[in-house]
Amino acid sequence: MVTIKDIRAILTQPAGSRLVVVRVDTSEPGLYGLGCATFTQRHLAVKVAVEEYLKPLLVGRDADRIEDIWQTCWAHSYWRNGPVLNNALSGVDMALWDIKGKRAGMPVYQLLGGKCRDGVALYRHADGRTPTEVEDRVHGLMAEGYHYIRVQMGGYGGIPSGSRRPEGALPGAYFDDREYARSVPKLLEHIRGSVGFEIELLHDVHERLRPTDALALAKAVEPYGLFFLEDLLAPEDIEYFALVRAQCATPLAMGELFNSPHEWTPLISRRLVDFIRMHISQMGGLTPARKVAAFAEIHNVRTAWHGPGDVSPVGHACNLHLDLACANFGIQEWAGFTDASREIFPGCPEVRGGYLYPNDQPGFGMDLDEAKAAQYPCKSQVEMWTQTRLPDGTAVRP
Ligand code: MG
Repeated sequence: MVTIKDIRAILTQPAGSRLVVVRVDTSEPGLYGLGCATFTQRHLAVKVAVEEYLKPLLVGRDADRIEDIWQTCWAHSYWRNGPVLNNALSGVDMALWDIKGKRAGMPVYQLLGGKCRDGVALYRHADGRTPTEVEDRVHGLMAEGYHYIRVQMGGYGGIPSGSRRPEGALPGAYFDDREYARSVPKLLEHIRGSVGFEIELLHDVHERLRPTDALALAKAVEPYGLFFLEDLLAPEDIEYFALVRAQCATPLAMGELFNSPHEWTPLISRRLVDFIRMHISQMGGLTPARKVAAFAEIHNVRTAWHGPGDVSPVGHACNLHLDLACANFGIQEWAGFTDASREIFPGCPEVRGGYLYPNDQPGFGMDLDEAKAAQYPCKSQVEMWTQTRLPDGTAVRP
């Protein structure tokens, strides 16, 4: 029997996001696995959850019993489904799948049933301060071979043109939700006028609108034939999806903030969205993600797992292996890797012509150079972009 010998959380920040990767060592010399546990806004809390709570619970256990370990960890804290604990659990869970793949001499996608496709189609993010800047960026990505492009003007919530603030307004990332909603159809009109309807366009609302404004936007963008509209509503407002669904045919993708089955299950079973797109480490790892993918397949809902810069390359590899093996794969978000990330994580998946390919090594095919990771220590700072405020000064969800 191969047993768990040690569990560590390794922190590094080779680019903008603080990354958390879990390494599980086994009783077999040289056999270890890696998993993504990245919760960039609370990285130190995840490290404590991994090393102070999961390690004492799991050392000495059979590394092959992934399902049993997942269920045990999930229930062990009694209170469950939180982002810190789910990310910690994900780090261990993915590492165990990595170990099982290495023991089998197979990539993880083989353990999941084998490839449904040979490459995974990606969507990239194009932004700019004006419609013309966004258009230039779209053409640049098309020239690189991308067929699916998410268009945004400014950061999420757009660029507020006014300077309306009350006296004594607190510092924060200000935006104007109503002004943003008006800007989106104008942007899509401009981009469609430039690239036509052959390229697939996406847009991310990032939960920045009130429910009725969100409904109006979903209807207003219908003529532009989006591939999907992303995170139109906040997790707390998901009951409003029924209204959106009843009034327009804009495809909907939802879920990057979800961490509880209570959030995704009704949206899938009631066919209220077209794509489910959780952050796999945030939902607890590959074990729950593959079950949700299968549940979604039955309901003809596709996958579009969250794939931004605050997923480690190990997490991106996990997304990729699941994408390859699921019949109901829809699209994969992709932010790209920096050179430093590639050095720290040998084995990174490669993009060619708008598709992502694995390296076909056993497990996730990824490694972690800890000496190089240590050259990019995490910088702790109080984030400003999540201190989001409306023009009247009200603090709102980012
Ligand atoms: Mg998003």
